[in-house]
Amino acid sequence: MTRQHIRPDDSVCVLKGVGEKKALLLERLGVRTVDDLLHFFPRRYEDRRQMAALKDLIPGGPPLPLRARVVTVEERPGYGARAKHITRACLSDESGVVWAVWFNRRGLARVLVPGTELALFGALKQQPGSPELYNPEIEFLSDGAVSRTTGCIVPVYPSTEGLNERSVAKLIAGVLDTLPNAVSDVLPRFISEKYGFADADSALREMHCPTDEQKFKAARARMIFEEFFLLQIGLALRRRRGVLEKTAPAFNAPPNVQARFLASLQFDLTDDQKRVVEEISADLKRSVPMNRLLQGDVGSGKTVVALMALLQALDSGYQAALMAPTGVLAEQHALTLRKWLAPLGVDVGLLTGGLPAAARKAVLSGLSDGSLRLVVGTHALIQDTVKFKNLGLAIIDEQHRFGVLQRRALSSKAEKGAYSPHILVMTATPIPRTLLLLVYGDLAVSVIRQLPKGRQPIRTVCIGESRVPRMEDFLDREMAQGHRVYWVCPLIEESDAFDASPLELRYEQLRARFPNRRVGMLHGRMSERDKTSVMGDFASGKIDLLAATTVVEVGMDVPEATVIVIENAERFGLSQLHQLRGRVGRGPYQSWCVLYAQPKSRDARERLLQFCRLSDGFAIAEADMALRGPGEVCGVRQHGLTDFRVADLSRDSGVMKTARAEAFSLVKSCANPYSEYPELMSAVMGRYGRLLDIAGTA
Ligand code: ADP
Ligand code: MG
Repeated sequence: MTRQHIRPDDSVCVLKGVGEKKALLLERLGVRTVDDLLHFFPRRYEDRRQMAALKDLIPGGPPLPLRARVVTVEERPGYGARAKHITRACLSDESGVVWAVWFNRRGLARVLVPGTELALFGALKQQPGSPELYNPEIEFLSDGAVSRTTGCIVPVYPSTEGLNERSVAKLIAGVLDTLPNAVSDVLPRFISEKYGFADADSALREMHCPTDEQKFKAARARMIFEEFFLLQIGLALRRRRGVLEKTAPAFNAPPNVQARFLASLQFDLTDDQKRVVEEISADLKRSVPMNRLLQGDVGSGKTVVALMALLQALDSGYQAALMAPTGVLAEQHALTLRKWLAPLGVDVGLLTGGLPAAARKAVLSGLSDGSLRLVVGTHALIQDTVKFKNLGLAIIDEQHRFGVLQRRALSSKAEKGAYSPHILVMTATPIPRTLLLLVYGDLAVSVIRQLPKGRQPIRTVCIGESRVPRMEDFLDREMAQGHRVYWVCPLIEESDAFDASPLELRYEQLRARFPNRRVGMLHGRMSERDKTSVMGDFASGKIDLLAATTVVEVGMDVPEATVIVIENAERFGLSQLHQLRGRVGRGPYQSWCVLYAQPKSRDARERLLQFCRLSDGFAIAEADMALRGPGEVCGVRQHGLTDFRVADLSRDSGVMKTARAEAFSLVKSCANPYSEYPELMSAVMGRYGRLLDIAGTA
């Protein structure tokens, strides 16, 4: 294959020596294209620059890079099960002679012709008799060829069964050799000059085969910058499209339903809620589409804020939608909104997956002819069959459960030409500043920090088996006062379809344990109708104790619930525990969170104790992020936005900020970035076009 024929997005199969089998192995390492291979970087490097002589080898010492000639060679069958075949060779250099031994390398003796020059990397094994060079790495140096394994810094690549580090290294070295200009330089010249970056091609080579420390550091710095820069350009383009190219309806009508709702509300908004309502309202009055993130800890009262925004849309004659990640939560939002809005004569539609056909049809036709102005729903809202007459505002609750993509999906429901609805996303999982800039870089942010007045801090305890009876007595006393209890069981795969699930077992035990209380059960596989009726009964007090899976994790709001028991708490992430704990303490009563756990390690135990001490969602998110990584915690991992090749979000956050500033200022300063920076734009589109839904912007 000549180099003219190889292009970065070709499959690795075009490369010499890569057949179907090797391609499959490479795919296991995440490498499909030539470009993937070029960016498949070593996991570490070995400094073998300092060549040694045979006389420098000491028994039991470290492996050394050597050069020697074959003197004699012999082979024989091995002893024992693992060494079936043994090759031994006597090697010499100017300083001395040494024996080397290899196991199970049939055919090696044939090529170790006396006089052959070898590059080696190996150590002298301490053993009875004379010490030997034990299984050294070898490379044949024909006609004074330059060694790739000695006398230089050697890359060590990730490997997989059937494809070892050396084969990966050889393959990559081969590609770099055939492609003198392996990658094109996508960074604008002025940026490279400003930061003193090497050109892309030499940086790439330096990453694979470092020549010296300074150059390597510079190459890595460039790679990291470039990775962040491409993503930030993508985000800047997305914001630009929002700001420049789209218009949204301005909700300027005087408040009508909104004002009446506020007057009818039984409580005063907190100062934070008022401020956030104002921020959102100001956005909604402009004809630029709002793109705002509302962050507020569990129980801080985001729903009312959302409703204020929904009503502003309504008052201006537009439709508005609220999307929730689970059917149970959508149902609950519908109930809450109906309770508040029925007295004001406003209908609230509900659209979930489990809706009976007739009800679904009614909602769909109401949305398309505009007779239904307010709708709450799940993913069902973004299906193709849903048509809005004039959707003006879309709110997404518990955004971290959806990820970045659905935000676009919902707003694109309403997009016609240059028209786009306003978007508000809400989350209780605080997103650290770095990640915010990174993934939600095109969003404005509002934060609710205070909880409504009169809330008492939730007390959290961690107990083991022995304290369960006392805990159950306590639950009974709580329920006797009319308070309610959640009992959360982790979902464990059932081994046999006829076995009762752990939840069902627990439910039966709890019924037996609390004969005077009404015990209910809730899990994800129940029908929507059953779920609704159980949740309704728990909210109204017909059920005192609810045994549930984590379906209750987000959003559920039952102010009379004062205790949540979390079984096998050690299995949950800290943020998830915090969400679960947020199901209680939503009213004026003292509430409790009981972690019922058998932590197996000291670390696991320490983590739970740490959780007992922490109540602030921001602090918990930080701790969780330190443990599990930011992408995981904020639900962006699966979208690939945080899958960097070299960059590391926590380590390189400073570079990220610089890259962001440069990217945003570049996009802002260009009349048409596509014609001014075609290579940069095509790199951005290739990597992020689909992920960020900006592919069509050109
Ligand atoms: P979250 O932010 O977790 O979504 P919710 O919106 O569900 O929280 O609110 C939690 C509870 O607090 C609800 O019962 C809600 O009616 C109540 N609430 C909200 N704002 C206030 C307030 N300003 N004063 C008193 N209670 C409030
Ligand atoms: Mg909520």
